[in-house]
Amino acid sequence: MSTSSETTKCCAICAYPATSRCSGCGKVFYCSQEHQKTAWQKHKRLCKIYQRQAKGEEVAADSFCGLCGKTDGPLKKTACCKKTVCDDYGNYRPFSYGNDSCARNHDRYTRCCYHYNERHPGSDSVSCDQCSNSHDAEIEAWYMTNNFNFQDDIERATPPSFQPAQCSKCQRPMKLNCEAHSYGRDGHECQRCMAGLMGSTPASNIFAMDGIPVQMPGRR
Ligand SMILES: [Zn+2]
Ligand SMILES: [Zn+2]
Ligand SMILES: [Zn+2]
Ligand SMILES: [Zn+2]
Ligand SMILES: [Zn+2]
Ligand SMILES: [Zn+2]
Ligand SMILES: [Zn+2]
Repeated sequence: MSTSSETTKCCAICAYPATSRCSGCGKVFYCSQEHQKTAWQKHKRLCKIYQRQAKGEEVAADSFCGLCGKTDGPLKKTACCKKTVCDDYGNYRPFSYGNDSCARNHDRYTRCCYHYNERHPGSDSVSCDQCSNSHDAEIEAWYMTNNFNFQDDIERATPPSFQPAQCSKCQRPMKLNCEAHSYGRDGHECQRCMAGLMGSTPASNIFAMDGIPVQMPGRR
C-alpha cells in the first residue's frame, strides 16, 4: 500500500500525521479515533459511494455533494473548481462559526478557493507555488487535506510536513486547526493563556472552539 517515499497522509480533521484510515473505503485518513468520529457524520454517505465506485459502479459526479455525499438536497457547482456541492449557505447561522454549510466550508477553508479568490495564475491550486508560500505549514497542510476539500484534490495534495505548534506562553502543544487560539505579538497563544491575558494583549485571529477558524488563518 504505502511506500516510504509516499507523502505522509494527513488527518482529515486536524492535518496531523494519520495513524489510521477509514476501513470502509480506505480513502480517508485520521490521527485518532476521536477525529474519525468527528468526521463520520459527513463521511458516512461518501464512504458508501466510494465503495460502490471501487466495485466498478458508475456514480455520476454531479449526483451527490462531493463533501458530504448528500444526493437529495439542492446541489450547485462551486465557483472555484466547478464541482458539485450542497447549495446550503442558508444552513450557516451568522457568527456561529459552525461548519454546517458544505458550500461555505469549501469557500472559506480550502486552498482551492483561496487560490481562486487570490486570482493566482493557473487553474490548479494543488500545484500552485504562491499558495504554498501563503500560510504556515500546519495551516497549509490543513487547507490542502481537510474534509472540506474534494477527495481527488486531497489525493493529489503534497502537504508540507510541520512541527506541531506550541503556545508561545505556556509551551503547551496545540493543534492550530482545531483548537481555539490567538495569534499575538509573540506567536500563537492557547485559549487558557488568552483568557488570562485578555485586556492586556489584544487577541487577533481568534479561533472558534468548534475547530473552524474565524478568519483565514496564517495571513498576517
Ligand atoms: Zn486529527
Ligand atoms: Zn470511508
Ligand atoms: Zn454537502
Ligand atoms: Zn474548489
Ligand atoms: Zn494558488
Ligand atoms: Zn498557553
Ligand atoms: Zn494561528
